[in-house]
Amino acid sequence: MAKKRKTSAKAATRGGRARTSRPRITSKRAPGKIVARSGRKTARARKTVRGSTHPKYVYFFGGGSADGNRSMKDLLGGKGAGLAEMTNAGLPVPPGFTITTAACNRYYTNNRTVPAAVDTEMLERLRRLETIADAALGSVERPLLLSVRSGAKFSMPGMMDTILNLGLNDATVQALDRQTGNGRFAFDSYRRFIQMFGAVVLEISRDDFEEALDDVKQESGVTLDTELGEGALREVVSRYKDVIRLKSGRGFPEDPLEQLRLARDAVFRSWNNPRAKEYRRIYHIPDDIGTAVNVQLMVFGNTGDRSATGVGFTRNPATGVKEFYGEFLVNAQGEDVVAGIRTPQPIGELERLMPTAYKQLRRITSRLERHYRDVQDFEFTIQDERLFMLQTRSGKRTAQAAVRIATDLVDERIVTTRSALRLIDADSLSQLLAPIFDPEAWSRVPVATRGLPASPGAASGQVVFTAEDAVRWAGQGKQVVLVRKETVPDDIHGMYVAEGVLTATGGMTSHAAVVGRQMGKPSVVGAAALQVDDNAKRLTIGNHVFAEGDAMSFDGLTGEVKAGQVASKPSEILQVVAGHMAAEDSDIYQRFARVMRWADRVRRLGVRANADQPDQADIAYAFGARGIGLCRTEHMFFGKGRLPIMQRMILAETEVDRRKALKQLLPFQRNDFYGVFKAMRGGPVTIRTIDPPLHEFLPKREELLVDIARFEAVGSRSSGLEEKRALLRRVEQLHEFNPMLGHRGVRLGISYPEITEMQTRAIIEAAAQLAKEGLMVVPEIMIPLVSDVRELRDQKTVVDRVAKIVMTEQGVTVDYLVGSMIEVPRGAVTAGEIAEVADFFSFGTNDLTQMVFGFSRDDATKFLNLYKARKLIEGDPFASLDTVGVGALVKMGVERGLAAKPGLKIGICGEHGGDPASIRFFDRIGLDYISASPYRVPVARLAAAQATIEAEEAD
Ligand code: PEP
Ligand code: MG
Repeated sequence: MAKKRKTSAKAATRGGRARTSRPRITSKRAPGKIVARSGRKTARARKTVRGSTHPKYVYFFGGGSADGNRSMKDLLGGKGAGLAEMTNAGLPVPPGFTITTAACNRYYTNNRTVPAAVDTEMLERLRRLETIADAALGSVERPLLLSVRSGAKFSMPGMMDTILNLGLNDATVQALDRQTGNGRFAFDSYRRFIQMFGAVVLEISRDDFEEALDDVKQESGVTLDTELGEGALREVVSRYKDVIRLKSGRGFPEDPLEQLRLARDAVFRSWNNPRAKEYRRIYHIPDDIGTAVNVQLMVFGNTGDRSATGVGFTRNPATGVKEFYGEFLVNAQGEDVVAGIRTPQPIGELERLMPTAYKQLRRITSRLERHYRDVQDFEFTIQDERLFMLQTRSGKRTAQAAVRIATDLVDERIVTTRSALRLIDADSLSQLLAPIFDPEAWSRVPVATRGLPASPGAASGQVVFTAEDAVRWAGQGKQVVLVRKETVPDDIHGMYVAEGVLTATGGMTSHAAVVGRQMGKPSVVGAAALQVDDNAKRLTIGNHVFAEGDAMSFDGLTGEVKAGQVASKPSEILQVVAGHMAAEDSDIYQRFARVMRWADRVRRLGVRANADQPDQADIAYAFGARGIGLCRTEHMFFGKGRLPIMQRMILAETEVDRRKALKQLLPFQRNDFYGVFKAMRGGPVTIRTIDPPLHEFLPKREELLVDIARFEAVGSRSSGLEEKRALLRRVEQLHEFNPMLGHRGVRLGISYPEITEMQTRAIIEAAAQLAKEGLMVVPEIMIPLVSDVRELRDQKTVVDRVAKIVMTEQGVTVDYLVGSMIEVPRGAVTAGEIAEVADFFSFGTNDLTQMVFGFSRDDATKFLNLYKARKLIEGDPFASLDTVGVGALVKMGVERGLAAKPGLKIGICGEHGGDPASIRFFDRIGLDYISASPYRVPVARLAAAQATIEAEEAD
């Protein structure tokens, strides 16, 4: 009991209470990501008080009109703007006033004191409130009682503090008793107020109040608070006051005006309590925007059986179904629900108990939904059958609900298709594509550890530690999850067959993360608590040891890792895309497809996909990509039967031997290109020449040393030993201390032009073949890691020479382009020169981020979390573009490129091409297209449409 009550007082805000009773919402919608679109309106709204230089600090609402309105969330917070808007709409809102976020910010910059003007304005608004309410603060006839609640621009449910029943003291409580004829109610309200005030304002431990309450209950022989009579509650009040005197060294302030000032400042302070700070960190809410404080006439849901309090949604926030959804408690105040003393009733019951209030609530909330043109999450209190609205705001929802609600609102003619696009969090769409855990089953298993949620989806299977084992086990029909310290390109076949991939190291653009997203494979990376022992085939997480074959599950949407097998299934949308389900049979697919069509009608940016294989390109096309922005050809060398040839090519001592191996690789590449071109049905396909350092294709030095030692131990003189020794020599030759800054990208093509020649031949032959079959394609051949125009010119010469030869051989003309990746800072700076040779640019923002920050893209997670916690960086720059630094270079590259060659085609193919915030930036600086991994294509389509709408609205 005492334990439950501890949370009750803490979460006395109605927002806090509501959270516990709502369905679990998994939407990743991060309030911080919402752009402050109201900037212009806010500027207009930032009035100054006549005859003074300071801004207006206190906004009144009541008596049918309000000083503020819905567009003033920056200044009044979400709650304050909503209360003003509802008042203006003539809805029954208890009157009051909002002290602005600007006052909060002044409080902090002014050494934790508010400017005198705040006090003056507050008193003036208080007088107005007293007139409307026909009551006065501190009056012993008709005492005015107030609620004091926090309310920031973005909702932070239950994170900040609230004080109810303010204005009560030893004299006014008697008046309340007389007025209501209900002494129990009066003293219950009073003791709640003292407790909240003591905890929030005077920062006295809630346990001290619990103890005093428990003592009185024991002495009265009761177990529940509700069983305490008026006499006992008077005793509680007296003991609470003792607690305050003892713990704070001062008496409880009886002066209601002093109570109000202290409560206001305490709510300002609660902006910086640890849980509010943590919440802002998680949801990327800026620390410097502050909270508003709403002071409002108290209405009581606890005056008897004709009173109630509740919360609701105008539609189901989990499924999106159009149903009035919510719950309430009769004879209660907000915190009673959290206290767990009573179970709330479904809102339908209210119709039976208080039909008039219920009808009015339905009418008002439907009106609010139409007014705001979005699902509303509302809070209400009924006092003696009279309904009061306490809050309304857009309801948070799952991706499934968001798509359903958006399409329904269009069908109901409440919003246009264009507005509907803005009701869906683009990022959340990936939830719709991911396999899903049965939520019930998932919540029953404890979390073993967490990593970065790199690729969404539910993965469950037996643990394996190598790609080979993954393939072998999967071949035996087992479901496996591949757990690696980190993945490398030649793990790809293992990743392909695994249900999911979990790594101990790596960030959001590490190999496992990039390939995981590209494959649509659930992936959790950088789970630092994982101790992976490949040799022993064992992994430990704390005390828990997993051997090969043990069951494990993880959720790529949340990063949670759990022991044991949990059932999951593919999403319906994927089943339709893969042809395993008819579109007509899937309601969510049809709605999703409609939303995507609306987005395509609006967006300016083209959307392509990063795909290396024909099957990935097929999926990308099905998801709406109309081009490939990046085909990483090196991934093709890891396919079945190809790696040994690739290794022969690398090991070759002479150009002649190298060319022999390349000749064997040619048909593989040609076939892949042919498949990718075909999957895109003639759309543009950008193929990048080889990029990674060659040692990535060879076995690890340590493995070779072990193999050689084994041979030597048995005295073997076989050719196997010699082969291993030769391999080791080459591995050692190729060893680099900084391979990502080493012999890779265009530098390889310059050292071994025969590789570029083979790749060009494969590309042009595939295109020629398709031309003969009647499909014209225009390959875009892209050179990576260019930092100087001379590098590009060198490779373009090779490409042009070979292309000409092949076209002559084939008797077909193939139009092709030769372009440059811009992913090295010098490339961006000298983009004007590069553009003179390049037909197109594609920004490689993964490498560019790595090189601009000097952060290793594979290791940065080790310190990025600390950086984020210490506010040394906003977020992971590999996940969402650092527009200030990296973005400035991209912008410079675009401007210089276009100045040198107007009309130059420019895209982006780094991972940021699938990130909505980055997409907004790419739209703004005028790129032609974005390219994202296949499963992010729907996200990119929607985000691109949202960027267009935003840009048009800003004009
Ligand atoms: C990049 O660097 O942004 C890029 C797309 O190339 P990769 O990730 O293959 O290095
Ligand atoms: Mg790169």
